[in-house]
Amino acid sequence: MAENMIALERAQAIVLEHVRPTDVETVAAWRAVGLPLAQDALTDIDLSPFANSAMDGYALRSADIAAASAEAPVTLEVVGHEAAGHVFAGTVGEGQAVRIMTGAPVPAGADAVVKYEDVTVEGGDGNEGSRAVFRAPAPVGANIREAGLEARKGEAVMRAGEVVSAAGAGLLASAGCMEVPVHRAPVVGIISLGTEIVAPDAVPAFGQIRDANASALMASALAAGAEPRFFGIAPDDEDTICKLVLEAAESCDMVVTSGGASAGDYDYVTAFMRREGEVLFDRISMRPGKAITFGTLRGVPFLGLSGNPAAAYVGFEMLARPAIRKMRGFADLTRPVQQARVLHDVRKRQDRRFYNRAHVERDGETGELVVREAHSQNSALLGTLHHANCLLMVPEGPAGYAAGDEVPCVRIDVEEGTVL
Ligand code: AMP
Ligand code: MG
Repeated sequence: MAENMIALERAQAIVLEHVRPTDVETVAAWRAVGLPLAQDALTDIDLSPFANSAMDGYALRSADIAAASAEAPVTLEVVGHEAAGHVFAGTVGEGQAVRIMTGAPVPAGADAVVKYEDVTVEGGDGNEGSRAVFRAPAPVGANIREAGLEARKGEAVMRAGEVVSAAGAGLLASAGCMEVPVHRAPVVGIISLGTEIVAPDAVPAFGQIRDANASALMASALAAGAEPRFFGIAPDDEDTICKLVLEAAESCDMVVTSGGASAGDYDYVTAFMRREGEVLFDRISMRPGKAITFGTLRGVPFLGLSGNPAAAYVGFEMLARPAIRKMRGFADLTRPVQQARVLHDVRKRQDRRFYNRAHVERDGETGELVVREAHSQNSALLGTLHHANCLLMVPEGPAGYAAGDEVPCVRIDVEEGTVL
């Protein structure tokens, strides 16, 4: 049974109850950047696999130079060298040193590294056959990076649900994880409804409107982590709508329509969904975006947004985006909300909760966060949304805000989980 005018949080909960993470695919670790891992990633070796030098210098026995000073320098015999990929196979004995490069394994017997700049070389090029003179002691472990500092063999370097960063892609590679499992991009079918709607490459005749919503919603779907697929424009004809939506439901993880969602003479979406699927709600206490139908069709979540471009956009942002993120495996599903001082009165004419397009910024002089609404909240305008970085929330009820009030702003330009 459809509920009448439900709160946004209730609507979001209903939508999220009806989507599951998609199946898992493997992608190159670097391609997983920005995505949560579907499983723990384990390293098959110690990271790093061996104790190595943090400096270019000489590996030696700390005890040998314990008494070294400027007045009484200590001289060691250079018995070998290590360069990238060339390892000293012997053991560093008493009175001996091995020349070593950054990252090279610390040879057996050595327990400290003295950096090159602090050493005077005598007789030769500093490699085998030279002598190295030390004027200060070095404690055990000096300039040595221990083995397994990052992780031990078999340990997880990244947990399921953790979002892969660029640095993380490098860590995964070190751990031998060339490919990692992620939840595949859900396919989101987009359909535009309305007899007056024409493709953007047409010059609209009088009374016709170019399809702006399909592009805005495809872009929103892409930005949310989905693979959008456009199924076309259907006129306000129940059979045509029915055929197109059912076709989309066959191959998509979610279907989103815009237009025809209210209770007008030509609004067939809710009726069609009642007949062919299940309607879970058809009205939300929100502006823009009151007339939103959600349900399931052949087991596929279906979201019918109203055609007003701003309403369709905000409806997608509030309901489809969290759903897509859940399907992708993200744990964080809500945009950051920031408090800012509103620069003008905010009046409210209706009981519904308002999400007014607005722009938040830092005042150049005081450093304080301030927010200003777009000049118009007309639902037909996409330009105001294009310039907005937040939705200023005015709660249900008669209240508005007075200039100077601290008000909540949903940051639509900042990713979920970001700490502001
Ligand atoms: P509807 O939800 O069908 O009543 O549409 C509400 C308003 O949005 C009408 O003015 C439509 O012309 C407009 N509209 C509907 N679909 C689109 C679309 N795909 N692109 C731009 N405007 C649209
Ligand atoms: Mg219409």
